[in-house]
Amino acid sequence: MEAVNTDRKDEDAGNRPDDNRQNGGRQDGNRQTKSFLIQRFREMGIAPATRHGQNFLIDLNLQQMIVDAAQLDRRDVVLEVGTGTGSLTAQFAARAAAVVTVEIDGHLFELASELLLELDNVTMLRQDALHNKNHFAPELLDAVKERMSEAPDRRLKLVANLPYNIATPVLSNMLLWEQTPYLMVATIQKELADRMVARPWSKEYGALSVWMQAQAHTEIVRVMPPSVFWPAPKVHSAIVRVVIDPERRAAIGDLRYFHQFVKAIFIHRRKFLRANVVAAMKRHLSKSEVDAILQPMGLASDTRTEQLDVATLLQLTERVRAAAPDWSL
Ligand code: SAM
Repeated sequence: MEAVNTDRKDEDAGNRPDDNRQNGGRQDGNRQTKSFLIQRFREMGIAPATRHGQNFLIDLNLQQMIVDAAQLDRRDVVLEVGTGTGSLTAQFAARAAAVVTVEIDGHLFELASELLLELDNVTMLRQDALHNKNHFAPELLDAVKERMSEAPDRRLKLVANLPYNIATPVLSNMLLWEQTPYLMVATIQKELADRMVARPWSKEYGALSVWMQAQAHTEIVRVMPPSVFWPAPKVHSAIVRVVIDPERRAAIGDLRYFHQFVKAIFIHRRKFLRANVVAAMKRHLSKSEVDAILQPMGLASDTRTEQLDVATLLQLTERVRAAAPDWSL
């Protein structure tokens, strides 16, 4: 894990002319520098919307790092949540088979269209990427499915500088989808990245850590200070790379059950596991039925939820599911 050099002298540091990479003679995108954004926003009479998590990545070297970490080639269908000005989108389009990009903000959709409309491997959607917390919008799912069906060797990759307010549902939903993603590279809050890679007993360990680690290998590629974005967010950020492990994923009996059960028992992760399971399974399992599951697993009455590793949680979920198959949150 590296920390970015924050010793910047000019406001568009890292944006030297030779950073505007070319690919086969095609320009990969606009140069999304701070001065570019300020000028375009002024021309359009708009300001960045905090409620939509609009913090644009203005360091072109870091944009390149995201593109490189995704290791795109002509088999890949990229899903990007948050088109912004289309700067990253164009770079994905120059390397991947197809890109589906979603933007909620009409002004930005318009701005990005100037750059992207002529690219026939880009599908632009102007809408909320989420139908609700646990589901992507159906239009997004359809667009991705259509691109995936164009060739048999297609691979799905989420690559995005995510709006921070929806980063958790976007990453979680990718792993709930029956369309298994190949990998995800995303810019998210550092605090969220820490939770994704956290181990049992640590204060960051929770339902998200379990959900990610049960089906993928996750690493923090780079920690970034607020200054690499415009406008600067209040917190540090990180680029994470999540490589899905199909074998681990296949070992999960029922993805939705596992997702919901882990969420339910980790609401009070420092409490005793027994109390959490009893509360989660209320009206489905009695206390003695819960004990009949925990005791043979060697989970003593003073075991706390935060100390369970992923393997134990998988085993526990399968036993609970066998006893209460109809349960849901
Ligand atoms: N991709 C650009 C970049 O790298 O600079 C923009 C990233 S910015 C962090 C997040 C973008 O997501 C913004 O353009 C914002 O309007 C958009 N956005 C926020 N919430 C969204 C949602 N629910 N669905 C789709 N787009 C959303």
